[in-house]
Amino acid sequence: MLDTMRRPLQDLRISVTDRCNFRCGYCMPKEIFNREYQFLARDQLLSFEEITRVARILVEKGVSKIRLTGGEPLLRAQLERLVEMLAFDDVDLTLTTNGSFLSRKAQVLADAGLTRVTVSLDSLDDDVFQAMNDVEFPVAGVLEGLEAASAAGLGPIKINAVVKRGVNDHTILEMARHFKNTSYILRFIEFMDVGHTNGWRLDDVVPAAEILATISAKLPCEPVEPNYTGEVARRYRFLDGTGEFGIISSVSQPFCGNCTRLRLSAEGVLYTCLFATDGSDIRAILREGASDEDLASFVDTIWKARTDRYSELRSSQTSGLDKVEMSYIGG
Ligand code: SAM
Ligand code: SF4
Ligand code: SF4
Repeated sequence: MLDTMRRPLQDLRISVTDRCNFRCGYCMPKEIFNREYQFLARDQLLSFEEITRVARILVEKGVSKIRLTGGEPLLRAQLERLVEMLAFDDVDLTLTTNGSFLSRKAQVLADAGLTRVTVSLDSLDDDVFQAMNDVEFPVAGVLEGLEAASAAGLGPIKINAVVKRGVNDHTILEMARHFKNTSYILRFIEFMDVGHTNGWRLDDVVPAAEILATISAKLPCEPVEPNYTGEVARRYRFLDGTGEFGIISSVSQPFCGNCTRLRLSAEGVLYTCLFATDGSDIRAILREGASDEDLASFVDTIWKARTDRYSELRSSQTSGLDKVEMSYIGG
């Protein structure tokens, strides 16, 4: 199944909740995501059975990787039950988490069939990290989660660090040094204009070239070939010692040409781009009793009509669009 730019459907990101216990300013700024904010109600969320049904159909359509995300996916009760239901043969089943519940949950998730985890950690400097998550969550809590995930065999573990100018860019090198010579794969992510509440400005983006220059000035490294077509991070290997890191440059070097991702929101809306302003409600037809054939043809129509390449078209006009929030669509 190919879209209008001949891109196949290969990856599915499933948001299991729009809620989170962190308030990272680049994703869920406290001023907006406060007590008055209307999060999804329980009955609006897809059930595990509904998610599994949609996922199964998408796997038949070519999806070979499923990532559970949110919001904070580990806030969804009994997530391990969903993991068990989604552990299809030949599908890579992963999870992106802020790591705060990982020390408690890693083993049970691994036992249920999760293959890997990606953990977000923006800085090793406690003051910087706590200011970024805005709920005073300590670095040590995430490091404990990383250890638990590693002990449970959920590797190779990727670590996502969003870089924001003047906020944590001075701690990039410390992060690279810390994870060099380990099996953790650190990935720096350019701050993106997802959603419409994070006050994104191009001036706050530290371009990939600058991140690379900062690291390579002290830690010599060389580019590594992508693991597969469509890999979003550009990879680099340390020359002195072992280990690698990556940079995800959605802003300065867009990669829409290889984008094979479809997103399913927690309430069952399918989105063909992270920067979408609208999507297609599959929950409605699921709850009206659609057959598997109906669902398959619904997905077929959506993917075949797909024209998205937001990051290649980004401008001061597009960044002000009423895009859906990252915490809702699933990062
Ligand atoms: N709560 C989980 C977490 O933080 O890992 C999963 C959901 S979160 C939306 C997924 C990823 O998106 C995280 O690694 C986060 O750092 C990243 N992210 C969120 N907002 C972003 C932004 N504006 N620009 C770049 N990355 C962002
Ligand atoms: Fe929560 Fe993840 Fe968004 Fe931070 S990036 S607010 S941890 S959903
Ligand atoms: Fe894919 Fe949209 Fe990101 Fe381009 S902007 S890589 S189409 S999600």
